[in-house]
Amino acid sequence: MSKMAEGICTRAIHGDLTPDSATGSILTPIYQTTTYVQDAVGVHKGFTYSRGANPTVAALENVLGTLEDASTVCFSTGMAAITTLFLSLLKTGDHVIVSDVVYGGTVRLFHQVLEQLGIRASFVDTSQLDSVSQAIEPATRLIFLETPGNPTLKLTNIAEVCQLARPRRIRVAVDNTFLTPVLQTVFERGADISVLSTTKYIEGHNATVGGSLSTRDQDILERFRLVRKTMGCIQSPFESWLTLRGLKTLPMRLQCHSANALAVATWLENHPAVRSVLYPGLESFPQRVLAKLQHKNHGGMLAFELKAGAPAAIRLMNSVKLCSLAENLGAVETLITHPFSMSHADVPPAQRNRIGVTDGLVRLSVGLEDPADITADLEQALAASTRDK
Ligand SMILES: *Cc1c(COP(=O)(O)O)cnc(C)c1O
Repeated sequence: MSKMAEGICTRAIHGDLTPDSATGSILTPIYQTTTYVQDAVGVHKGFTYSRGANPTVAALENVLGTLEDASTVCFSTGMAAITTLFLSLLKTGDHVIVSDVVYGGTVRLFHQVLEQLGIRASFVDTSQLDSVSQAIEPATRLIFLETPGNPTLKLTNIAEVCQLARPRRIRVAVDNTFLTPVLQTVFERGADISVLSTTKYIEGHNATVGGSLSTRDQDILERFRLVRKTMGCIQSPFESWLTLRGLKTLPMRLQCHSANALAVATWLENHPAVRSVLYPGLESFPQRVLAKLQHKNHGGMLAFELKAGAPAAIRLMNSVKLCSLAENLGAVETLITHPFSMSHADVPPAQRNRIGVTDGLVRLSVGLEDPADITADLEQALAASTRDK
C-alpha cells in the first residue's frame, strides 16, 4: 500500500517502485528467468522459482496494489484470476451468488466446470437488494458482483450488498474490469476482493491477456498466492512489463475514454435508427443516480439497440471501417461486438433473454480515436445497415 503519493496519476506511474538497484534502469527489467540462485540452503532474495513469484510480476503487483490501495496478485488471464478466487474460497457444497449480467466466461466456469465439483451458483439480479437477500442460503460463502455488468452496464450498489453480507460472514468480490480502481473504488464501499481482467483497460493496448485479484485480508491473500502457485497460472514477465507500461497512462486514458464515450453515446441517442442507448453517463440511463454515487466517471463502454433489430445490427457490424469487429474491450482502438453471438454465445438462451442480451444489442468499446471520426464511421455504417435490406 502506497504511502508515497495520494494522486492517482502519480500512483499509476510510480507505484512504490524504485529504480533498479543494480543498474539504475528507470523501468523494472523483464526478469526472464525460471529460477534464482540461492546463497545457501534457505537463504535467497525472496524469489526461488517463477511459478511462485517473479520480480517483474511483483513490480506490476506493486503498482496495481497502490492503485487498489490493497495487496495484489497477478494472473495469466482474467479467467485464471476468477478461477483462483473461487477455488481459493469455496469447497464442495458451497453456494455463490453471482450477478446475472456478468462476463460470459464466468457463467461458463460455473455451468461447465465448478458445478461438476459440487459448487453451486445462483445468477441473481444483484441490482435488487431484495433479490440478493432472498438468494442467500446457509451455504452461501461468496457474492460475486460485476458492476457495471457486461454487456448491458447494469449497476449494483456495492455498499448495500456489502452491508447485507458482512453480518452473515459472506465475502463480497467485485469484478471491476469496466471501471478499474481509477473510476470505482470497491474497497471504500466495503468489498473484500477486487477482480480485474488486466487484458482490458489496465494494459489497454490490445497486446496482452492478464488478470488480478486484490484484497486487504492477509489470509485471503496468502490463499490466492498458494492456489496460483499450485495451479500454475501466474502472469508472465513480458506480459507484466507491457501491463506496467500500459498502467502509466491508465488515468489519462480513462478520462479520454469517458469523454469520447459520452460524446458517442449522446450522438447515438439522437440518431433516428437507434432505439435506445445504455451509458451510465447519460441522463437517460436507468440507474443514473447510482452511477453518479458510485463512479468517478463512467468509462468507455456503451451498448445500444437498433430499431430495425438483429439483421440491421449484423449489417452495421459488417459495415464499420474505423471500428473493428472484435472481441475484447478497453483498448485504444474502438471495438464493436454482438454479445448475442460472440461473448455471450455460451450463456443459456433463457438467461440471456432475461438479462437483456437481445439479438439486436450492439456493444461498443469506445477507443481513443477522435470522437468525430468514430461517429462518422458509425454514421456510414448505420446508413448501410438501413439501406441494403
Ligand atoms: C474480459 C473479462 C473477463 C475475463 O478476462 P480474460 O483476461 O479475458 O480472461 C472477466 N470479466 C470481465 C468483466 C471481462 O470483461
